[in-house]
Amino acid sequence: MAGEPQPDCLFCKIVSGDVPATIVRETETTVAFRDINPQAPTHILVIPRVHHRDAATLAAAEPQIAADILREAGHIAADEKITDTGYRVVFNTGAGAGQTVFHAHAHVLGGRGMQWPPG
Ligand code: 5GP
Ligand code: ZN
Repeated sequence: MAGEPQPDCLFCKIVSGDVPATIVRETETTVAFRDINPQAPTHILVIPRVHHRDAATLAAAEPQIAADILREAGHIAADEKITDTGYRVVFNTGAGAGQTVFHAHAHVLGGRGMQWPPG
């Protein structure tokens, strides 16, 4: 059921502590940890504790938690000192857009120059 932990979900296992991660911030509703394959000097994932397959589904079901993720992204940028140089918050949605883990997550990327449009 949406929102319930999924036994085969990697990010549910990071929330439960069954899979280790380098956690940088936690709130009642979110967990933020460093990406295992960083694409920038700062590359942190912010996820809801509850399971939803992507950001849009999360926002439809639990809009306050979607807002919590965006607020946490801002705190992370401040902690990482990338607010002034600029950073990117990305929600890959669907396999065709590069989503590989189907538990909603924001990528917070910064610490280097960024190109537009993205690849
Ligand atoms: P997506 O491709 O779904 O947008 O993002 C999934 C992200 O999760 C990828 O950037 C990938 O490097 C990261 N990732 C995959 N497995 C692990 C893991 O076990 N630990 C951590 N910290 N990140 C992971
Ligand atoms: Zn999950």
